[in-house]
Amino acid sequence: MTYLIETYGCQMNKAESAALESIFRERGWQPAEPAPEAPRDSHIGALGESRSTLPLGNKSFARDSHIGVLGESRSTLPLGNVDVVLINTCSVRATAETRAWGRIDQFAAKKRALAAAGKTPFALVVTGCMAERMKRSIKQRQPAVDYVVGTFQKQAFGLVLDAVAQGRRLEEIEESPAFVFAKSYYEPGSFRSFLPIMHGCDNYCSYCIVPYLRGHEVSRRPEDILAELDSLEDAGVREITLLGQNVNSYMWKGGAGALGAAAPDAGLGSRSAISGGTGLGPASPSLDFPGLLRLISSHLGARGRGGIRWIRFLTSHPKDLSEDLIRVLAEDRLFCRHVHLCVQSGSDRILAAMNRRYSSSQYLDLVSRMRAAIPGLSLSTDILVGFSGEREEDNDATLALMAKVGFAYSFMYHFNPREGTPAASLPERVAEKVKRERLAKVIALQKLMSRELMQSRVGAEAEVLVEGLSRRKKSEVLGRTQADEMVVFPAPASRVGSFARVRLTGLSGNTFRAEEI
Ligand code: SF4
Repeated sequence: MTYLIETYGCQMNKAESAALESIFRERGWQPAEPAPEAPRDSHIGALGESRSTLPLGNKSFARDSHIGVLGESRSTLPLGNVDVVLINTCSVRATAETRAWGRIDQFAAKKRALAAAGKTPFALVVTGCMAERMKRSIKQRQPAVDYVVGTFQKQAFGLVLDAVAQGRRLEEIEESPAFVFAKSYYEPGSFRSFLPIMHGCDNYCSYCIVPYLRGHEVSRRPEDILAELDSLEDAGVREITLLGQNVNSYMWKGGAGALGAAAPDAGLGSRSAISGGTGLGPASPSLDFPGLLRLISSHLGARGRGGIRWIRFLTSHPKDLSEDLIRVLAEDRLFCRHVHLCVQSGSDRILAAMNRRYSSSQYLDLVSRMRAAIPGLSLSTDILVGFSGEREEDNDATLALMAKVGFAYSFMYHFNPREGTPAASLPERVAEKVKRERLAKVIALQKLMSRELMQSRVGAEAEVLVEGLSRRKKSEVLGRTQADEMVVFPAPASRVGSFARVRLTGLSGNTFRAEEI
């Protein structure tokens, strides 16, 4: 049996596709032949060779407003022997759904063509946020879709595959009352892996559909996180990105479990990770995000730190980034010197209308405290231009904030109201032309700042994790620094998956050229 997966949307979708793929593999299914068209896979919005695919102005990709960059992996349609086509959709904006519909309709046409040729067509399965939002109406609109698997039905996905394999039809797909984390989100062969630690969001930013589709925040059991870390490390993974809609609000309150045993040896210093400042006390232990980071560091340390050496996390809401988290990042080099800290706007009036719950001065204060504590910290952000009611002076405030912070890179996009969110009914819509003009200014400033920052880095030394061969020259490899900078340097393919120390020697577009030292 063979399968094909197409993934749209944020890193969470990418991680969830990896988890769904493991369900195929557990059953002995094989991936369909790789499509001739290279997957357009994004890497957390890094600068560099993948920069051409960044969603500047939301032109290239649909863009999740919080989790980071959106990748998109698509295939062409050979589909001769494919048994299941799974489309993992994004709903964060209408354009993302339009794109997914286009693809679903293409697959539907292919199914009809196969049936007309007397062949058994593949089963077409739609999952992801669009599946959760539209549920049964997807099949009403496109009857060729065989199964719609919502966010809370993924734990039953194996039953869908079993039904397809046995040539029968599953009438109902069970829905779990709460979000269930997959056992593993590992993509075989990867040196970098996502590791979801929480799911859902309680923030309700006024423009964002995520809380309505993904539900309330659920934190993953620390024991399960540590167990997955172990298996990722054993599989050869060297870098982890802890993933969640808002990782800073991670909070495990599910009881001590293995944590009770882990805590005394965790080397957590005077401030225990368990019941860290929540007032819940030892009878009802809890673990917050800084506590989880300490626990992870201690756990990997006990294993020797020979494998996973870098940990990142996505995404951080500024209102929840605590002093304690800054302390952990400052003290422990396991955690990368790069934080994606979404600001969205530099105007207090617009931030309030967005329900972001911080002001521009609070954001700037947070940035200066972080920079004071963590030398060399690199910051990136999301910027949403043209929100309803935005005036020229609000955009000027955004430009001023950007200049003060000096973001290494930004994901910049203009506001398009999302049906089902409070912002969709706000008055004072900004004209499309004006939005585009403001966005152009924001992009121009970011390009200038990114360029200057990169030029100032030439001559510096950096450690990189080698990710693969350069697309342009097979005698060169492509790596990434802790600060999420892409670096190309001459090295054999055997270096892929290892760390290297390099000197940055120049720039090639948005990628550093370097030499190994
Ligand atoms: S923090 Fe705001 S933008 Fe991010 S997922 Fe939650 S509601 Fe959406």
